[in-house]
Amino acid sequence: MMNRTEPGRRGPYDTAMRRPIERTERFGARRHRRRAVRSSALVLAGAALVSCSASPEIVDLVIENVTLIGSPGAEPHAGTTLVIDGGRFSRLLDAADPSPPAALTLDAEGSFATAGFWNGHVHFTEPVWGDAASADPDDLRDALDAMLNRYGFTSALDTGSDIENTLALRDRIDAGELAGPRIRTAGGGLVPPGGSPAYLEVSLPELDTPEAAEDAVERVLDAGGDAVKLFTGSFVGPGRTAEMTVEVASAAVATAKRRGARVVAHPQSERGVRTALEAGVDVLAHTAPNGGPWSGALVSELVAAEIGLSPTLKLWRYELGRFGVPEDVIENVQAAARQQVGAFVAAGGALIFGTDVGYMTDYDPIDEYALLREAGIGFDEILRALTTTPERYYGDPASGGTVEEGKRADLVILRADPRVEIESLARPKWVVASGRIAHGL
Ligand SMILES: [Zn+2]
Repeated sequence: MMNRTEPGRRGPYDTAMRRPIERTERFGARRHRRRAVRSSALVLAGAALVSCSASPEIVDLVIENVTLIGSPGAEPHAGTTLVIDGGRFSRLLDAADPSPPAALTLDAEGSFATAGFWNGHVHFTEPVWGDAASADPDDLRDALDAMLNRYGFTSALDTGSDIENTLALRDRIDAGELAGPRIRTAGGGLVPPGGSPAYLEVSLPELDTPEAAEDAVERVLDAGGDAVKLFTGSFVGPGRTAEMTVEVASAAVATAKRRGARVVAHPQSERGVRTALEAGVDVLAHTAPNGGPWSGALVSELVAAEIGLSPTLKLWRYELGRFGVPEDVIENVQAAARQQVGAFVAAGGALIFGTDVGYMTDYDPIDEYALLREAGIGFDEILRALTTTPERYYGDPASGGTVEEGKRADLVILRADPRVEIESLARPKWVVASGRIAHGL
């Protein structure tokens, strides 16, 4: 069996991203068995048995008849054909254009498509992720699908896990062994003195001086971190918050920025939000509803500082419910969180979708979408929070975040118009991550 990458064989996108042909064959053959796809068995056999260069026109995947919402705010384009090859969108065609022969051709009539989603707040800390370097691939496949793939998340920021383990998982995805999201990681999280969160079983590195902060940030980035997570405020017990000083947080941020890494803050309280703001962090990993509504002045400062915000609205109900907090108190907290998100977005703030799954064992994002709508957030803003904004903060807008020729083929095919049925975002029909089917077939 051939197993070569043949650089330069099929146009501009097939060098670094080209998968070994062996994997392409398995991909095509398996899909062909399970689905009535239009690629002929002969074509698949050709790809498998003949020299690869003998079938230069066969692309990896064609999806026809989709209504494309290529970017937030874009006019939907009915009858689009998406041509995916070498992990990229190689061409976007109109219905009148003939489709190229493909290892797999799917008819998506009646469906809508958007770029793949980011979940900007996840954790790989549950037992199933343990020892990711050697864990059974089927177990990891199931876990990736359960938490991320089935919901359309083709990119994820890990905001607190064992960094070596997360990197091992990432390597297995990037090597093509597992279908899953692109993973970015912030390592394990850094806390103020005595500030390991009461809800975690682990103790996190405590930053008591600016020098300690610099060292700790260097260690996270040396270990392979893409970002750094600071607990500018940390829940250490009922009614008690440990707070990081602005001086320490500022030292951590300066070190991260010098190395080109983003800083994400868990704020916990309004003081924690202010510390994050004054230190210059990039993103708040949560709203901070137990501090009550945000003032217009605070919101203006956050927006002017271009701080991104991951709402995690569902998390508050989940957490408070777990501890038996009365319903009226839960509703007050939820109302404060909705106010914070609503005011932030109304002022032009950058929302980054994130749900804290992995910590929260209920992975389904459907409630988060509903809560965002209740907070007054419209579809375009939600799509922006799922795609272009997180790509700008954590990824590379030149190569992802929208459906355009040449960009990474991260794609979500939806059963209904998400502008009308926001819930459809949580129930994708098919999910494509870096050109591979990650869910649905
Ligand atoms: Zn979290």
